[in-house]
Amino acid sequence: MVGLKAAIVPVTPFQQNCTILYDERSRRGVVVDPGGEVERIAGLLAERGIVVERILLTHGHIDHAAGAAGLKTVLECATAPLGAAPLPVPIEGPNEADRFLLEGLEEQGRMYGVAGARNVTPERWLEEGEQVRIADYDFDVFHCPGHTPGHVTFFNRQLRLLVAGDVLFRGSIGRTDFPYGDHEALLAAIRDKLYPLGDDVTVLCGHGPGTTIGQERRSNPFVRG
Ligand SMILES: [Zn+2]
Repeated sequence: MVGLKAAIVPVTPFQQNCTILYDERSRRGVVVDPGGEVERIAGLLAERGIVVERILLTHGHIDHAAGAAGLKTVLECATAPLGAAPLPVPIEGPNEADRFLLEGLEEQGRMYGVAGARNVTPERWLEEGEQVRIADYDFDVFHCPGHTPGHVTFFNRQLRLLVAGDVLFRGSIGRTDFPYGDHEALLAAIRDKLYPLGDDVTVLCGHGPGTTIGQERRSNPFVRG
């Protein structure tokens, strides 16, 4: 991955891969899916001297999104020079179909016993075909419903890099046994939108190790290409 570095911080009891993507030289970047443990994420950012330009959310589940509002507050305060207005750190994504999940994060927190969960409304909802900026790279947005209705993934053609959230894992796929889950839609999104990106594409997953499109297309037991 030329020019862009990934630092993965597993957060929450669900061991979700909060992923910091940043340019090694300019030290500018984004945080994808800060589900919790805001102090730990902020500490790592400070330690590496990374300036966060935006927070990206793949979907509205607690382990991916519950720390977004808190991290935004911490980062905006940290970057503001004394007496000056804070530099905004906008939250972008997921698709608006996940609004009900983002508005229910505090309730999910009580249900799963996750402390510090905060509801969040992103500055920008994302649609299929739009782009998000990560350091100096534009990433295409793919709307991949099924695990949640508003799940999005991010892809950069030049870097051959896909940020897949909970759509595709190494040897597995996202759960769809929620009342709002849709197994067929998830399989269709993987088959029609992700597999065609190319076998050489590196996949960063929301849980567990990363993989490649080629490896999953050939051997994923849930969906072969
Ligand atoms: Zn999820």
